[in-house]
Amino acid sequence: MERTLSIIKPDGVEKNIIGEICKRFEAGGLRIVASRMMHLPAERVGEFYAVHRERPFYADLVGYMSSGPVLVQVLEGENAIARNREIMGATDPADADPGTIRADFAASIDANVVHGSDGPETAAQEIGFFFGDNGVCPRTR
Ligand code: GDP
Repeated sequence: MERTLSIIKPDGVEKNIIGEICKRFEAGGLRIVASRMMHLPAERVGEFYAVHRERPFYADLVGYMSSGPVLVQVLEGENAIARNREIMGATDPADADPGTIRADFAASIDANVVHGSDGPETAAQEIGFFFGDNGVCPRTR
């Protein structure tokens, strides 16, 4: 059993496809164990994406992710990190496999609908960043 951090980005929230996206997570064997809508200030997004600070797209990424509310969630399941990334599709929607969230809904590499942790260490760090030590609710049912 593994946990991963998911964010439905401002374009996904604006398109009102939260239900469609969560349906795909659930159909893919993932269960939601934490969920919160937040409008993040630029400073907080900058911290979250600090690993990309030197990249040319960093300012655009921070501006975009702080431009509207996002739905931050923790997903749990077998191989949840890889499973979520399969469901999301490639970062650039032009490269995403048919039937993935990004292939079906993303307009560009910036507005690509969803974020998902890329490894166990990042997942633990990202879950802690948003939900602390006790913000995740175990799925006893
Ligand atoms: P992810 O794990 O698939 O979300 O991709 P990364 O963690 O590598 O990058 C974080 C986010 O930055 C991506 O989801 C994109 O929105 C954006 N991004 C990544 N690479 C590029 C790029 O080469 N150009 C632009 N404009 N944005 C990028």
